[in-house]
Amino acid sequence: MKLDYFVVTFLIMIFFAEGKKAPSNSKIWKKLQKLDSFVKEKIKDAMESLEDHQESLEDKQSSFEDDILSLENKYDEHDEKFDAVELSIQDLEDKLALAIVENAGEDLITDQDLQGTPQEILGKLAQKVFFSPVEPKGTPFKPVNGPNGNDSRIGIVGAGAGGVHMAYLLKQKGFTNVTILEKSNRVGGLVGHVDLRGTRMTYHIWNDRFYQKTLVPLLDKFGFGPDIVNTTRDHTLFWPTNDANIPGMWSGQFVIASVMQEYQISDPSLAYQLILKQFAEYTNIYIKIFGKPETTFMRRPDPLYMTLLSGTIMDFVERFSLQALKSFFRNFFHINGYGTIDTVPVTYLFIIVTPGYLMELGLLRIPYNYMNNRSLQELFPMMIEDQDINTIFNFEVSFIEKLGSGKYKLHSKNGTSEEYDFLIWAGTPFDLPQLLYPCDMKNYLFDLLKTQHSHYVTASFLSMKNSIRGAPVQVYGKQFLSDTYENTPMVDYDVHAAGTGVSIEDYISNNFTYKDGSSADVKTFWSLQYCFCEPSEEETTQTLTEHYEKFNGTDISVDAVLKWDQYFPRWNVEAAAQGKHWDLYDFQGTDNVWIIGGGAVFENLNSIMEYNQLLISNMI
Ligand SMILES: Cc1cc2nc3c(=O)[nH]c(=O)nc-3n(C[C@H](O)[C@H](O)[C@H](O)COP(=O)(O)OP(=O)(O)OC[C@H]3O[C@@H](n4cnc5c(N)ncnc54)[C@H](O)[C@@H]3O)c2cc1C
Repeated sequence: MKLDYFVVTFLIMIFFAEGKKAPSNSKIWKKLQKLDSFVKEKIKDAMESLEDHQESLEDKQSSFEDDILSLENKYDEHDEKFDAVELSIQDLEDKLALAIVENAGEDLITDQDLQGTPQEILGKLAQKVFFSPVEPKGTPFKPVNGPNGNDSRIGIVGAGAGGVHMAYLLKQKGFTNVTILEKSNRVGGLVGHVDLRGTRMTYHIWNDRFYQKTLVPLLDKFGFGPDIVNTTRDHTLFWPTNDANIPGMWSGQFVIASVMQEYQISDPSLAYQLILKQFAEYTNIYIKIFGKPETTFMRRPDPLYMTLLSGTIMDFVERFSLQALKSFFRNFFHINGYGTIDTVPVTYLFIIVTPGYLMELGLLRIPYNYMNNRSLQELFPMMIEDQDINTIFNFEVSFIEKLGSGKYKLHSKNGTSEEYDFLIWAGTPFDLPQLLYPCDMKNYLFDLLKTQHSHYVTASFLSMKNSIRGAPVQVYGKQFLSDTYENTPMVDYDVHAAGTGVSIEDYISNNFTYKDGSSADVKTFWSLQYCFCEPSEEETTQTLTEHYEKFNGTDISVDAVLKWDQYFPRWNVEAAAQGKHWDLYDFQGTDNVWIIGGGAVFENLNSIMEYNQLLISNMI
């Protein structure tokens, strides 16, 4: 501070001293020159120091880059090691699974059964599958708490197949106070139809044998018998690529051709033998884990066998080298909208594809049933009327209070509320914890159901001229063979032609009329699109139109569109492998609640109704 003071004073004195006599030009020039060289010196110093900095920065940068590179290399090395470990774990899991199956008891189907002509083998396999005395295996289903007394107030949310069927069973059991609450103004949920060209166009099919304890007796009771028809399985045409220039194949041929392609073989009989052999292997595995299940929903397997539930259907196929059955599995899953075999957990395969199911629908090609000019949607209001079931429409449950008394207070979007002693949730399962007021059950259910997800389905009813169609029912290879759902048409169905048995020749040559007398020059059918994405209505229609234009379709009109955004609620691969299906069953009856419907077990009418029957028969 002091020093600064002296310097300033000294400079001021010089200034005044200089000021006394005028400086000469040469002095000024010298000073300027000095100043100039001083400034230049300083700039030079600064430049040099900047260059030094820059060099050191560059050094640092390249050393950083080296570090990053070496880190990346290390990361890659770790990644490779990780992949290798994963592969060896998978390999070990595969070996474990094979060993478990190997040591899980006697095979039902032996090598002896696989000797003979294909016809003889098929006969022996059918004999074993349908008539062998095999008991169900696994943990028996435990008793389930139900409503307290016959006059207990029971509230069922959802007037879909699951809710209506459950209400019907409870009323038949003697429960007098059963109410269904439904957010829409109709009964049926996913079951519906559209009336076009004088025909009631349904989209539901079933199989008499598999639905014999569920849907079939109801259809008999309510007088649907005369309207039930069989599909001719041979009238389903597969277009291997979505291109009318590559000829279509009948479904049986398509299965054999897929196996020939898979194994790079040219002999169809060899492909058929492979199918029979792998059918036997599938049956042996199934029977060893689950025995012969009482319902399609099997008992929880022995903990040792839980390893076999890990992965997708495709993982299972690869693990047990069952590639010859891929086409059947794709048939059951891809076409019916149950996801792709590359994404769906293998537990769902076991639930739906029992050996008997694979034998009948895959190998014996037993026809499916459906109705001509009628719809299953007519059944559910009849059940409600028959049992005089109280139904409240336009009641969208928007939150649920669990009262201290153990009762439930259900609040609707419209501000009304209803109180029940026992709550049966027949909507999408995951919606329940979202709507519950905070409580322990909410947390438990949230955790149990959190991985459930679903996808989008659109059924469009179309009319068009000139479209190249080889049969009333057609399946499209692009979507059928894909490992994902991309919204391209999967299957279409001319309900009138299939329902009235129009021959292939007449169908191709437009030699029939629709029920209202209109000409077959314009054909009307529904077409199903499935999507893992959320498609817009415009995208869906555009994809559809472009698809049929490739088959020469002209004058295309979309007459009606039905859309569902929560189709096939299902657990993800990890959760399904942990046995969440059985955890949910074990939850049933806790705190006076049941959860039923497609998301509790499997998205089809038989599984839903069998599950309802299972709860009722184990109810205490
Ligand atoms: C195109 C298509 C084809 C099919 N084909 C077949 C087939 O051939 N064979 C077969 O067996 N199955 C088939 N299915 C599947 C079958 O229709 C379903 O598995 C079954 O109908 C589902 O019944 P659900 O009661 O579980 O659910 P849903 O039918 O979805 O019923 C749930 C009900 O709950 C109501 N709801 C939901 N949330 C609330 C709320 N918060 N408050 C009040 N109400 C609520 C809904 O409005 C709905 O009515 C098909 C489905 C579709 C879409």
